[in-house]
Amino acid sequence: MKVTLQNLTKEYPGRGRKQPQTVAAVKDFSFEIPDGELVGLLGPSGCGKSTTLNLLSGLQKPTSGRIFFGDDDVTELPAESRGVGLVFQNYALYPHLTVRQNITFPLENRKGRDKLTRQQMADMAMEAAGLVQIQDLMDRKPAELSGGQQQRVAIARALVKMPRILLLDEPLSNLDARLRLQTREEIRRIQRSTGITTVFVTHDQEEAMSISDRIVVMDRGVIQQTGKPQQVYDDPDNLFVAKFLGTPPINVFDGRVRGERLYIGDEAVLPVPGIADQDVTAAIRPEGFLPGPGGAFTCQFRGMEVMGRDVSILSCHSSAQTPVIRSIVSAGTAAAPEAGMIRFDLKPGKVFLFHRDTGARLRF
Ligand code: ADP
Ligand code: MG
Repeated sequence: MKVTLQNLTKEYPGRGRKQPQTVAAVKDFSFEIPDGELVGLLGPSGCGKSTTLNLLSGLQKPTSGRIFFGDDDVTELPAESRGVGLVFQNYALYPHLTVRQNITFPLENRKGRDKLTRQQMADMAMEAAGLVQIQDLMDRKPAELSGGQQQRVAIARALVKMPRILLLDEPLSNLDARLRLQTREEIRRIQRSTGITTVFVTHDQEEAMSISDRIVVMDRGVIQQTGKPQQVYDDPDNLFVAKFLGTPPINVFDGRVRGERLYIGDEAVLPVPGIADQDVTAAIRPEGFLPGPGGAFTCQFRGMEVMGRDVSILSCHSSAQTPVIRSIVSAGTAAAPEAGMIRFDLKPGKVFLFHRDTGARLRF
């Protein structure tokens, strides 16, 4: 099911003297989710991810704009009629019901033609439980399950009615690191095998990058960029997106362009054809540094960290916006630094320039 968000805006009224202004949690949000894809909605806490998801589910109504499932305008449709499956961070299971009863709960109150027999419900619950591999836990109560198992029950409950759309709001945040990885792979597998159009909300860029067909990066209620994860990483539209994606994070410098060359400090570090003379913000991915004695960019060497295949070189520079510059090179190429200095050449495809005031990308 294709999902279209059209100029969606959600404003919350001000709350008296403490917060007089209305808060626009989502601003003029337009986006199309292709049928059968998993879209990662990504951004820092408070940027409007949950609000966007609640507008999709029908738990909240937009101030303006429209939502379509396929060709159906569902903007005015109540949540229970939209056919969405919802999973939240805090499982939200009924504590007094067994796993089986929790999973069949969304099937219980079907009326008339849609009414299901006990046996049908039991079969559907078992099938959904099979997708998340909790068939052995059906008679337990939520309190008798681990966090990971509880979240699987919640996912099974969201899947049991074969939703048109699956909406997941930070579903892995309460799980420990290993379980988070495993559950995220499972969500991916289930999404692929069922083909249900899915929106996955997270503030964790690595999670979004690894699980999504497509990501939507948001900041302060506004879409910053959409695209395939790798494409957004390789070609960010603005400084916010460049800084938000990537571990270790991108290295940011105050720079200036003179005669189509990028200067950081006093050194011309890279040709930047077509860019007019101006002050810029220059950002360099950790994998964009090539150490070598003839390198154009000189930094103060601080140390090395060996991490298996890769070596992380720590250095610093007076024009850097962070105390430490982190560059990642393969173990063989790590040159021994001379006299506390280390020189790098820069890979042009890993260096991004941004307008000093607006943060908009300057492409060269
Ligand atoms: P996220 O899920 O990305 O952390 P939210 O969608 O929960 O962000 O919130 C977006 C913005 O809207 C935040 O600034 C938040 O404080 C505000 N907000 C959320 N819910 C309400 C509400 N019921 N009333 C007023 N402001 C709200
Ligand atoms: Mg949220």
